Amino acid sequence: MGVRRALLCHLSSPLPAPLSLLLLDFRRIVNEAVREAFEHGFTARGSLVPFAQRVARDYRINFHHARRATELALSLDRGHRRQIRQGVSSTLPYVRRPLLIATDDSFHLDPVSGKLRLSLRSGEWTSVLLPLSDYHRRVLAEPRVAVKEVHVSPTRVSVVVEKGVPEPYSPTSVLALDTNESSLDGVMVAPTGTEPVTVPFPEVRVVQQRHHDRRRRLSRKKAHDRRVARRLLGREGRKEHERIVQRLHRVSKAVVEVARTQRAAIVLERLGHFPVRRRVSRATRRRLSSWPRRELHRQLFYKSEERGVPVVLVDPRNTSRTCPRCGVIQGRRRRVGAWFACEGCGWTLDRQINAGANLARTVLAETRELGGLRVDLDALLEDAVRPLYLSESIRRARAERRGRETENAYEE
Ligand SMILES: [Zn+2]
Repeated sequence: MGVRRALLCHLSSPLPAPLSLLLLDFRRIVNEAVREAFEHGFTARGSLVPFAQRVARDYRINFHHARRATELALSLDRGHRRQIRQGVSSTLPYVRRPLLIATDDSFHLDPVSGKLRLSLRSGEWTSVLLPLSDYHRRVLAEPRVAVKEVHVSPTRVSVVVEKGVPEPYSPTSVLALDTNESSLDGVMVAPTGTEPVTVPFPEVRVVQQRHHDRRRRLSRKKAHDRRVARRLLGREGRKEHERIVQRLHRVSKAVVEVARTQRAAIVLERLGHFPVRRRVSRATRRRLSSWPRRELHRQLFYKSEERGVPVVLVDPRNTSRTCPRCGVIQGRRRRVGAWFACEGCGWTLDRQINAGANLARTVLAETRELGGLRVDLDALLEDAVRPLYLSESIRRARAERRGRETENAYEE
């Protein structure tokens, strides 16, 4: 198994005639197979193999193309059946655009020149030159990357590559992070000691707020024209999404890189249903129920997998209410403020770092492999919190502050 990615190439010239015909045949076979499968109630991949053999002969095309067409038909059929089951009215799927999905036993792609050679039928080939970009070439040249399929349409070809993932290493330290609204916070526990760490991403909240305000303004201004309003709001939503995802990518990349260089396991809380308390204001509810934490975790999972970094998920219950020193769980009412203060032993710590420390303690208690490690609580009191990632805006703010300080120093 591995991670799949698609590389898209827009064609500058029309497809050669034999390939255009193959696309039309492929579409026709898919549509015939959809009907065949539905009429006979076929759902298994193997059930349409005799059908694929027959059409490959009738249409005089490579059997692999015919079989891939029947597999596509089965998946279209599955969606159709599901909709019927759910009581949604649905007509039998029909593919209108010519297309071809070729599997790796029916084509060859030269990763340097971009020449794609496709089998039409036994002994007969056709070829297309794909305009590969430098990025495409770089991906194709990476170790453990294999080209799995090409999806051909009259105007573009997308090359599906699969990257094999390395075995996760056995960790020698733990990077436990509690996920908050505009930062990840927690501890790095290594054989050399424990250190409080943070990964701030304040811009995400700023971007969200800005787009929210803009959307509100837009919908008020365009209240008389719902069609225009919907289009503009949709565009705003997409832009916001892209801006946030792009920022989260930088954050997740940095975290995985830190973990990899320290051979650490990343520990996160398992995000389940995120309860939003009733008594908070509507604005707060909107802020808290936002999706970026889930997106951030998704990115952390797949980037870790690609780089062989182990990830451990922990049940988050009580992590923000437990005292890591004496183990007392606080009452719900006391769960306010930026600081955690224990009623039992007087332990106080930044609430978010404290939650991260509890995640680390849970994992270290459960994993024998990491037996030698322990969370050194006293170190958390002494050390300054180390940021694992500095975004552009934070870096700029720091530089300014330092600038002012030096000015003052000169005055004195
Ligand atoms: Zn305590």
